[in-house]
Amino acid sequence: MTSASLGSADVAIIGAGLVGCATAYHLAKGGVDVAVIDRGAINREASGANAGSLHLQIYVHPHFPDDWIDRIRPTIDLMREGQKSWASMEQRLGTDCGVRLGGGLWVAETQDEMRLIDKKVRAENAHGVMSSTYDRAGMLSLAPYLGEHVVGGSFLAGEGFANPLLVTPAHAAAARRHGARFFTDTGVTAVSRDGAAFVIETARGPFRAGQVVVAAGAWTAVIGRMVGLELHVEGSIAQVGVTEARPNIMLDHLLQHVGKGLTLKQSRQGTYIIGGGWPGRYDRSRDKKHPALESIIGNAWVSARTVPDTAKAQLVRTWGGMGGGSVDGLPIIGPSRAVPGFHVAYAPLGFTMGPIVGQLFSERFLTGEASLPLEPYSPDRLLDRAA
Ligand SMILES: Cc1cc2nc3c(=O)[nH]c(=O)nc-3n(C[C@H](O)[C@H](O)[C@H](O)COP(=O)(O)OP(=O)(O)OC[C@H]3O[C@@H](n4cnc5c(N)ncnc54)[C@H](O)[C@@H]3O)c2cc1C
Repeated sequence: MTSASLGSADVAIIGAGLVGCATAYHLAKGGVDVAVIDRGAINREASGANAGSLHLQIYVHPHFPDDWIDRIRPTIDLMREGQKSWASMEQRLGTDCGVRLGGGLWVAETQDEMRLIDKKVRAENAHGVMSSTYDRAGMLSLAPYLGEHVVGGSFLAGEGFANPLLVTPAHAAAARRHGARFFTDTGVTAVSRDGAAFVIETARGPFRAGQVVVAAGAWTAVIGRMVGLELHVEGSIAQVGVTEARPNIMLDHLLQHVGKGLTLKQSRQGTYIIGGGWPGRYDRSRDKKHPALESIIGNAWVSARTVPDTAKAQLVRTWGGMGGGSVDGLPIIGPSRAVPGFHVAYAPLGFTMGPIVGQLFSERFLTGEASLPLEPYSPDRLLDRAA
């Protein structure tokens, strides 16, 4: 027996995280008939579980490969455009997204770490992103709250953070206002072609679409395989913690540690949000993401060492989320040559990049051209990679 059709749209986006909702917003605003299909609720996965950091400085680490900065160099321009998008977001969407752009600091504890920050700053400056390095005295003048181990670092205006519980719902609401339709609790189990259209098999019946956009975050590769594409995205669990409120706002920056895994912000309510990519645990059978005790301890230790005031606050909640990355560290944006009509919208650091990826994807979809070159991010670059 064939189940009743769920419906149809010119474009179906699979995934209602930030990337999917931002893409839906821009496409619907451009007049496209869009449906967003998600197996759960809007914002239930990484987009609602992340640490809320808005990066503009390149993400570096001493253990990354030597050619890392060269590899991800194109994303400097992408993040710069992304920052502009964050700065205008609340006005554009007409709602509070908790955006605070007080600037960002990277801190180092050793001269080796400082050399890595120097290299990062040179690459950024070459792309017009004007970060600067500082010695310890310079860092203390910017951030008197830093601990005794910090030897120096860098600062860049325009970095900051936003509230992950507000940003994706705000994009979804704006997309709806432009006519996008949302199908939640609608897991996609297969995607096939039927003449010029796609048939998307879901838990609630088949859905027909002229074109398909996969915006399924860590599950991008799973959906890609449904049409025979290997997209080389892998999921992994990361965790975040939040403390009780401190009486004073000490920190208006996004702070990161180059060597030890720390992102730190302080909310308007005075709570500290402590992240930095520490690994959590995955209960695959129930699809549950948990924090790991060792990571809670490690993350709190780095935080207290870097900003001693954080040690005075009780940690009140920690959680895990499914993040991940692409095989070459770059986003995947645009149509697939191998499967005409099938498109990808994927970004590592997708909270920072989600809004700009949705915008650029849609510019290219609507006009054939985007305001930044998207060639480095084409899904086609992955075609010849071994699985
Ligand atoms: C703990 C943690 C902290 C992070 N901190 C930061 C940070 O501070 N700054 C930053 O920039 N980035 C951060 N990230 C990364 C960022 O959160 C993600 O890159 C981003 O949210 C990805 O957005 P997305 O829309 O692509 O994916 P998601 O938000 O994961 O959305 C994907 C959607 O696809 C749906 N889906 C999957 N499979 C199917 C299916 N078969 N059928 C239908 N729907 C399906 C899912 O239900 C989900 O809703 C963090 C990630 C984690 C986990």
